[in-house]
Amino acid sequence: GTELDTALFAAWIEEISRTVRTEKDRLTRLDAAIGDADHGTNLDRGFTAVTQELAGKEHDSPGSLLALVGSTLIRKVGGASGPLYGMAFREAGKALGDVSEVSVAELSTALEAALSGVQKLGSAVEGDKTMVDALAPAVRALAQAAQEGKTPQEAVGAAASAALAGAEATVPMQARKGRASYLGPRSVGHEDPGAASTALVLDALRTAVTR
Ligand code: ADP
Ligand code: MG
Ligand code: MG
Repeated sequence: GTELDTALFAAWIEEISRTVRTEKDRLTRLDAAIGDADHGTNLDRGFTAVTQELAGKEHDSPGSLLALVGSTLIRKVGGASGPLYGMAFREAGKALGDVSEVSVAELSTALEAALSGVQKLGSAVEGDKTMVDALAPAVRALAQAAQEGKTPQEAVGAAASAALAGAEATVPMQARKGRASYLGPRSVGHEDPGAASTALVLDALRTAVTR
């Protein structure tokens, strides 16, 4: 269809949990290079809690589901990424309100809200070598796809590709936010773990939408 319903959003979250579990060690290795080697563990703990929180519950709308994901992540994940991801999902959920089906344009607005929430909380801009370097290009790709009247499959595919390219582009950057910034120039030459996980989150949405 051309609209995304609550079941699709639930499938997305399930797919994130699955892929975070699979990629946990890689994320932690990335964080070992320029942080404190806990990013995979942090996200796995968070999305395991999210899965438990969502299990066996009826959800009224995509918006309320995402808001619950956000508040669970804020409660369960310490470190920088818990509050930041929590904020992202909460703000996206709030932006969706109580509509039962989400268009590409509404999804685009929600992702914009997620990005501004992350930036309000963490004050990172593109080029600081954070999750913003994956999220911002995804937001732009989705906005463009919405404007061009693309299908959800095309739009989310473009967003996921943009996030992946954005994550890969963090390798030569020097970190200016978060723990990695303590390393100064030694942070150069490694992919940012939060940008890598953001690419996984968007790729999970692609998987859910194209299934
Ligand atoms: P911690 O650094 O507290 O151990 P994690 O390892 O779970 O937390 O997450 C690290 C990731 O969080 C970084 O790779 C980066 O993408 C993201 N991050 C850290 N600080 C910020 C910030 N101020 N704004 C946006 N993202 C940030
Ligand atoms: Mg860490
Ligand atoms: Mg930590």
